[in-house]
Amino acid sequence: MLTKANHYLQEYFGYDQFRQGQEEVIGYILDKKNTLAIMPTGSGKSLCYQIPGLTLPGTAVIISPLISLMKDQVDALQTLGVKASYINSSLSTAEQNERLQQLREQAYDFIFIAPERFDSNFFVHAIESIPLSFIAFDEAHCISQWGHDFRPSYRSVVQTVLSLRNKPTLVGLTATATEDVQLDIKQLLEVDDTNVVNTGFLRENLSFYIIKGQDRLKYIDRYIKNHQNEAGIIYAATRKQVDQLYQHFYKEGIPVQKYHAGLSEAERKEAQDVFIHEDIGLMIATNAFGMGIDKSNVRFVMHYALPKNIEAYYQEAGRAGRDGDPSDCILLFSGQDIVLQKYLIEQSDLEENKKTQEYQKLQAMVNYCHTDRCLQAYILDYFNDKIDVQDCGKCSNCIDDAAKVEKTKEAQMILSCVKRMGESFGAAMTAKVLKGSRDKKLLSFGFDRLTTYGLLKDQTEKEIVQFIHYLIAENYLSPGEGRFPILRLQPRALEVLKGTEKVWLKVEKVATREAEDYHVE
Ligand code: ADP
Repeated sequence: MLTKANHYLQEYFGYDQFRQGQEEVIGYILDKKNTLAIMPTGSGKSLCYQIPGLTLPGTAVIISPLISLMKDQVDALQTLGVKASYINSSLSTAEQNERLQQLREQAYDFIFIAPERFDSNFFVHAIESIPLSFIAFDEAHCISQWGHDFRPSYRSVVQTVLSLRNKPTLVGLTATATEDVQLDIKQLLEVDDTNVVNTGFLRENLSFYIIKGQDRLKYIDRYIKNHQNEAGIIYAATRKQVDQLYQHFYKEGIPVQKYHAGLSEAERKEAQDVFIHEDIGLMIATNAFGMGIDKSNVRFVMHYALPKNIEAYYQEAGRAGRDGDPSDCILLFSGQDIVLQKYLIEQSDLEENKKTQEYQKLQAMVNYCHTDRCLQAYILDYFNDKIDVQDCGKCSNCIDDAAKVEKTKEAQMILSCVKRMGESFGAAMTAKVLKGSRDKKLLSFGFDRLTTYGLLKDQTEKEIVQFIHYLIAENYLSPGEGRFPILRLQPRALEVLKGTEKVWLKVEKVATREAEDYHVE
């Protein structure tokens, strides 16, 4: 059968050889073994089910939570002369019924469906009454309650599938799965350890950067200026942030699209289509954008705000460079973002133990922003990637030979000001005190009588705020637990105040794939 698979690889897809992992996954599916494939984005997971679907008799059912992608997947297969179709809520009832009838008549080699389809007894009976080659769960991490994108409706499909009379081979495919998630999927889909193919998480063409303590908008402006002929995504935390960034770039005359859940379906679809089909341009989006977006030449993915955990980050950042060409993944870190993420966890209706787990995952994300280690190595470690990796040599930590300036004195002024203000205020009020502002609220608290009042009067309030954010990023200050950010001294700050630790500020630079383009100010 594998000879047949090789034949299809060349005949249908025009490729000379399989990529790492593909042949193994295909082999297991052809042997009718339940299989789990964990392969990074862009590694060619689709081929792992496409070839067995062509080789084996019967219909392959591909379940995907991404209805926006189904049409493209089906079109691509139809172009190759493959009998494929999809059924989802974007079709009229008449169309759905017609396709269901075709399915019953075994007219398709592939049928793509959304998890919700399994709520319909008609559908379940239809697939029970025909020979199936296998059922594949695309984006399989969504069936795991430990996954960062857990979808209960997706998980419940598993039970229905397991109780089908003609119980077929099951296949799970995902690019992001921690050990917990892998274990969960293996149990749910009844996959033996020997039928798990994990090609690791390394994406050699990606360069990771953490940018801290800088004016984010200025940074992005400069970066975009240096990368005008490329396509990139900027992820923002909220719809409002997306709208603001969109307006900013739109006014600058940069080809830009936006995407968030507050837009109509038609608006979202148009933005997505334009972005996918143009070679250059920006997409500003919330995390609602992108799962399964098949655009291979995204050259950079920037995070304007902190993602909630490493899984979410790696999946979003991983949308860069699917074609294998060098690409940048840049995270603009501000300590304030931690407060928002904590708030979102606190406000969620998760159970208490799940909340604790989310806090831990958030902490790992924050640690990523603080670590001095190779960033790619940190991520691989997080996923417990057993494949031995050297430092990447190109992330912002690996190349960090930036000049540093000592800022211990300024840091001491800020830290002692925070202390004198009773660790009860945020960055803005602290900056006003250090600037020596005549702000009414400040005066009403009597802060003009503090010994730290006006100590940094030569700087702008904005500069002081930025330095405070840097101190948060470097873990001298915590932005506080509650909804309103309140600065608190961290143990590290006491060392600075005692004079036993010095504070160094890295000289600003712009991430770029061409090292000589480094913009040092
Ligand atoms: P994934 O789903 O893992 O993110 P895709 O299935 O979308 O990745 O594949 C990414 C790209 O790699 C696609 O353009 C696909 O055609 C290409 N590809 C897949 N397998 C091979 C192969 N064996 N040789 C060359 N290109 C391949």
